[in-house]
Amino acid sequence: MKSIVMKDIRKNYGKVEVVKGLDITVDSGEKLILLGPSGCGKSTILRMIAGLEDITSGELYLGGQKVNHLRSGERNVSMVFQNYALFPHMTVEDNITYGLRINKVNEDEISRRKTDVMKTLELSGLEKRKPRELSGGQRQRVALARAVAKQSCFLLLDEPLSNLDVQLREHARKELVRIHEKFGQTMVYVTHDQVEAMTVGDRIALFSEGKVQMLDTPQNVYNCPANVFTAKFIGSPSCNIIGAREKNGFVEVGNQVFSLSAQWAGCLRGKEDLCLGISPEQIELRETPRDNAIKGVVRYCENYGHKTSVFIENGGTELVASTEESRFGPGDVVYMTFPQDKIHFFDKKTGHNVGYPENIARSCENDSLYKRRIA
Ligand code: ADP
Ligand code: MG
Repeated sequence: MKSIVMKDIRKNYGKVEVVKGLDITVDSGEKLILLGPSGCGKSTILRMIAGLEDITSGELYLGGQKVNHLRSGERNVSMVFQNYALFPHMTVEDNITYGLRINKVNEDEISRRKTDVMKTLELSGLEKRKPRELSGGQRQRVALARAVAKQSCFLLLDEPLSNLDVQLREHARKELVRIHEKFGQTMVYVTHDQVEAMTVGDRIALFSEGKVQMLDTPQNVYNCPANVFTAKFIGSPSCNIIGAREKNGFVEVGNQVFSLSAQWAGCLRGKEDLCLGISPEQIELRETPRDNAIKGVVRYCENYGHKTSVFIENGGTELVASTEESRFGPGDVVYMTFPQDKIHFFDKKTGHNVGYPENIARSCENDSLYKRRIA
């Protein structure tokens, strides 16, 4: 039983509330990602779980035990900090084993754990080096090795890969998942990087301004965004969100209309203040007119090699489409279709997804989305 339960957890700094009521259960052995823009409260939440920051109100349970008033050392947690926080005057092996000696683990056991984590994290041979004699990637692995060697039930990671270059980050990401498979701790992983969130997480809690916007699997967060914030945060380039209104089974976009499926039309009937959401990679782009397509003019293209982002103007609205082809250029007239099972509609005032799943059978199978959604 290694679950983490947060019940209406709040955090104030003076009069400012930076965490505004968290109700999250992290299952035993789960990898939960706290994702969100800088300053939204991710580190504060992690530090409250670790016991490095007081909880203003609410209850925190680790492994079934209420821990609000326990010191960090009594919580069975280990944490990896963004800046690694290694002891500069200690060797790699001393950095890894220092905490174990403080906790009076016996020397044979210390030696066994040290050898094991150093091998797993490919640090063998670096035992006697000081942190300044290591590369960024090696320092990051030492910080991780130190946390893993503690063999605590809860592994907390605060943007552990953000100081690494892109290639190293990809490698380290895979390594982290492998380590988790081997040791099976309950993991809370903070990042602002959606790729890390999508690839590492069992579930993602997406935050904005101290509140959860959506809590679900990476697939559901991507396929069925609960609200406009989620749709815009996930995906690169991000989801197109454009003003739209339903009228007699058609939807107006810019100065044109396209027809809706009977299901969508029924679901949206009479709803005027809507936003349409469509991911750039879901827009089908052609050079010739076809049924139910919206006409636009290409303004700008960004070629990434494997795909191109095509920025298209349609009656004062700008959309971006991703395509594997690079034949489009500024001034080209294009025809866009929006597959009916890939579009989302959001309430303009609340930002909530109005379509899924109550009224429409979507390609996404998990119907627990709205039950688990918190915002
Ligand atoms: P994130 O990790 O998501 O970037 P943080 O949890 O570090 O965000 O910070 C959330 C908010 O709380 C920010 O507005 C930040 O300025 C504020 N904050 C963080 N630590 C303190 C502190 N010790 N005193 C006052 N405000 C703080
Ligand atoms: Mg932070």
